[in-house]
Amino acid sequence: MKVCVVGTGYVGLTTGVSLAFLGHDVTCVDLDERKVEMLRAGRSPIYEPHMEALLGEASERLSFTTDYADGVPDADVVFIAVQTPSLPDGNPDLRYLSGAAETVGQHISGDFTVVVNKSTVPIGSSNWVDSILREAFERSHGRRADGEFTVASNPEFLREGVAIFDSLYPDRIVVGSDHPRGLDVLHQLYRAVLNQTFTPPSFLPRPGEVGAVPMVSTDLASAELIKYAANAFLATKISFINEVGRLAGKVGADVTQVARGIGLDARIGPRFLEPGVGWGGSCFGKDTAALITTAEEYHHDMPIVRAAREVNRQQRSVVVDQLLGELRILKGRKIGVLGLAFKPDTDDLRDSPSVDIARQLISRGARVTLHDPVAGERFRAEQPDLAGQLADSIDEVFDDADAVVLVTKWDQYLELDWGKFAGIMRKPVLLDGRHCLDAARLERLGYRYLTTAG
Ligand code: NAD
Repeated sequence: MKVCVVGTGYVGLTTGVSLAFLGHDVTCVDLDERKVEMLRAGRSPIYEPHMEALLGEASERLSFTTDYADGVPDADVVFIAVQTPSLPDGNPDLRYLSGAAETVGQHISGDFTVVVNKSTVPIGSSNWVDSILREAFERSHGRRADGEFTVASNPEFLREGVAIFDSLYPDRIVVGSDHPRGLDVLHQLYRAVLNQTFTPPSFLPRPGEVGAVPMVSTDLASAELIKYAANAFLATKISFINEVGRLAGKVGADVTQVARGIGLDARIGPRFLEPGVGWGGSCFGKDTAALITTAEEYHHDMPIVRAAREVNRQQRSVVVDQLLGELRILKGRKIGVLGLAFKPDTDDLRDSPSVDIARQLISRGARVTLHDPVAGERFRAEQPDLAGQLADSIDEVFDDADAVVLVTKWDQYLELDWGKFAGIMRKPVLLDGRHCLDAARLERLGYRYLTTAG
């Protein structure tokens, strides 16, 4: 099938590259010329494992452009995957979506095009996109739209860092549509993933337990709500264990053992039950905010979601409070921060806990040294006022430090020569913000080992 993907960020690029790998002809459109140039040269503008390898494998069926006319007119399916960031009032900023829909509407000319909202959008947005497409089509074609397109919702559930895996081996595919033909087109588009009939890439073999992938077909509003509800649930699960963690610290319990003890209950499950500095990234914060503001429009309160957000906000200050409790004075202290990306295996810094924690420490007078194995370059561009605090090496983070905080669980931090680094710190205080290191071992090496739970 012919596919056009509008917006080649984390979601659009993963979608476009994966669909091309599966055999579809894909044109990716982005307004950012720099991104398009890099992609044409086979380089990924984001750090995502396997992305460049899959780009290489799919290159014959994949093209990149800034011009909608290269991709939309012939497409059977047009994905809109532009960003929907939060506005200060919690509502999502939909101007990128409306801009994209407007231009898609001007260029649609095929017999029947399914326009798919892949961006995370408030409930009702598909109807809104439909009206934008319709008006733009009518203005540019000088006639009413009459069955040339339909709008569907296909929310994305990929996790950055394992995005290619998630797109080839998803837990489920959710499609919202009121149009049987539209639904049929999307079923055909995803057939190889649904039935797992494709030959896996050599670098990402199909795990033994992956079988047929369920497709959940719903009406438009349900598909849109599924996305928000999924993210709100996952965010709540993390905040829940962090709330329990704070109590665990007070009563002398070990929250990691508590998490294991409850997570082995099949009704609860172990995933997203990891205590620490809390969630970050581009989705949980903005999607929980959008869910609350959407509910408000219907005079409906969402106290659980509000509480999950509040616990997460406080969790970042817990790190600062723990350090204050340990060091007594933060002014003039040198504190190292390991990890800037909001999670490992990505360079995404959006709503990253480290950036927040670093800023809180600086506002308390601490001298902060920051490190990340891959996100340094992006950090310099996005947080220029903190760029001077970036360390060139991990040694620099530990050298003469009064404390070091591990914020992002990068593999290479787990494997550090911790014994060597204890020796070069002024005070070997280590705050494990992900509860992922071996406390007993670190204490044997001379560290004062702390977590967000005490
Ligand atoms: P992103 O910021 O990485 O990418 C968006 C891209 O769209 C950018 O490259 C931008 O230049 C481009 N763009 C903006 N307006 C455009 C236009 N009018 N025409 C063409 N290109 C345009 O965003 P993202 O992280 O990929 O997220 C996209 C959507 O997917 C959001 O709604 C997000 O909530 C949702 N989502 C994201 C993730 C994730 O992990 N990042 C997961 C699931 C869902």
